[in-house]
Amino acid sequence: MRQPGKGLIWAGAAFALSMLALLTWLAHQQALTRSFQDLHDRGQNTLNLAESTIRGQLERFERLPELLADQRAVRSLLLAPRDPDLIMAANTYLRDTAELLGASDLYVMYRDGETLAASNFDQPHSFVGGNFAFRPYFFDAMEHGQGRFYALGTTSDKRGYYFGAAIDVAGQRRGVMVLKVDVDDLETAWASEDLRIIVTDPEDIVFLSNRPDWLFHAFGALTPERLARTQETRRYANATLGEIDFQTRRDRAGFRLLSGHGQDAVASEYLVVKSHMPQADWTVQVLLPTRMARVQAVATVAIGLLAAGLFALTALFIWQRRRQLALRLEMEQAAKDDLERQVTLRTGQLRAANVALEEEVSERRATEAQLRKTQSELVQAGKLAALGQMSAALSHEFNQPLGAARNYAENAQLLLEQDRRDEAQGNIARILGMIDRLTRISRHLRNFARKPNQQLCAVALAEAISEAQELLGWRLRKTGVTLEVDLGEAPVHVVAGPVRLQQVLVNLISNAIDAVEGREDKRLHLRAQALGDRVCVTLRDHGPGVAEGLQARIFDPFFSTKEVGKGLGLGLSISYNIMRDFGGALSVENHPEGGAVFTLDLQAAPVTTAEAAE
Ligand code: ADP
Repeated sequence: MRQPGKGLIWAGAAFALSMLALLTWLAHQQALTRSFQDLHDRGQNTLNLAESTIRGQLERFERLPELLADQRAVRSLLLAPRDPDLIMAANTYLRDTAELLGASDLYVMYRDGETLAASNFDQPHSFVGGNFAFRPYFFDAMEHGQGRFYALGTTSDKRGYYFGAAIDVAGQRRGVMVLKVDVDDLETAWASEDLRIIVTDPEDIVFLSNRPDWLFHAFGALTPERLARTQETRRYANATLGEIDFQTRRDRAGFRLLSGHGQDAVASEYLVVKSHMPQADWTVQVLLPTRMARVQAVATVAIGLLAAGLFALTALFIWQRRRQLALRLEMEQAAKDDLERQVTLRTGQLRAANVALEEEVSERRATEAQLRKTQSELVQAGKLAALGQMSAALSHEFNQPLGAARNYAENAQLLLEQDRRDEAQGNIARILGMIDRLTRISRHLRNFARKPNQQLCAVALAEAISEAQELLGWRLRKTGVTLEVDLGEAPVHVVAGPVRLQQVLVNLISNAIDAVEGREDKRLHLRAQALGDRVCVTLRDHGPGVAEGLQARIFDPFFSTKEVGKGLGLGLSISYNIMRDFGGALSVENHPEGGAVFTLDLQAAPVTTAEAAE
């Protein structure tokens, strides 16, 4: 797979980051809106409470000026405004009534705006004599029957809400009855640590405030027009007006926000909840600091982000684990597949090798069978040849003495006819000698027939040797060969068949006699040696020895180097097999000083074992 380029990765990361930023921003907006909504609800509650307090307070006094305007003391005064007694009576009446009602001030104004009598007539800042014709409560009342106004008292320097009611006497509007309510108490009731409760006039100047710093301060610049309008009614008397350096704006969700300028803008930001009170012609505003709401929104988003991050991390961790697992499984599968492939390949190779091997084996078998066939054919041919040779040898061996015996017999017959008995006897004796020789030959031949199934027993080696010696006595004597026998000290017994052992010894000795024929040293050495449970019998001659290449072959049947009539090539083969039947072995080697050494390896037998007749 092609790896994505670096640029693409960066672009992807940038996109993911911007998406995250966008989501965070959206979440923040959402959280902020919710926090602001809570704040707004709280503000609304406070506002409702403040409003109802104000309304209650104002409603208490609303109807009173009209009521008082109807009072005789007041009406009388307006009929004779300069009458000191009436003034005094009205003053006293107003003072008592104000005290009774809990109003700040009560006063009667003449139609030109001059104050004729007042509840504070005996106070240092008495209204009596003061002309307040510029106040709306006066001219509104004069014009419409009643007027209202709130302002800072020009004389008392105290804020108040003024209710004015026209005093009509005898069908003529002669003055205005004014009731001033102290509004300081309202502020005291709004005391609060964090939020601001303010009342602003139509010019957006703070008239009431639960905190003094903004009092008589205007929102927005105090333009000359605004100042002129305010000056007309002298609402703020001689107080100096200031400006509040805050701006109102609406946020995305529509909440009205008031924020200061400069770096501390957010710290001094308020959420505004306001309500216009038409009857009082003012606006009550509750300003709630947004700092906590903002912190709360940020905290909510941070917690959300943290949770999302945690979730993402967990998801990433799980994903990574699953990926690692999948990779491992993939690798294991690949290794398994590879192994299976290798096994299949190897199995295929092995199968092919097997087939090749089987073919080879069957080929070998065929070759072997062929070989065996050839061998057996050869053996057969060899046997036939040997049989031919043997027949030739036998006919030679037998025909000669038979011919001679016939001659001797015919001679003996003639000699007896001529009565030459002695000579005839001599011939008969010769015939007998011939017959003896023939008997020996035939016995020798008979002995070649193996009797492998006969039981083995302990055979005294010395006896077997002396019998063989006896059998070969005439040959030894004839050829002048001496057989030196050394059997050691202890009488040696071996596991064998006595006749067959004798036959082996006869074969070996007669071969040795053949070998030393015509040699100077005609000694033969027959030695027996017991080695643990084995007995080793060696026969050494001083003949030519056996050529290296022939040492293995001389034990083959019908192998012979002797001229026809002399050797059948069966002696060593038969002897070899006999030795095998005894659990022994027959081997040959050349003596370093010349001559062949035939070794018989036999199993030693306990002396006590009874000899079985063979
Ligand atoms: P044969 O004596 O009838 O030839 P054997 O089986 O007895 O048959 O002997 C096989 C051959 O082993 C002999 O022809 C001869 O060549 C060789 N051989 C046997 N004994 C001796 C010996 N003592 N020295 C040298 N050659 C021997």
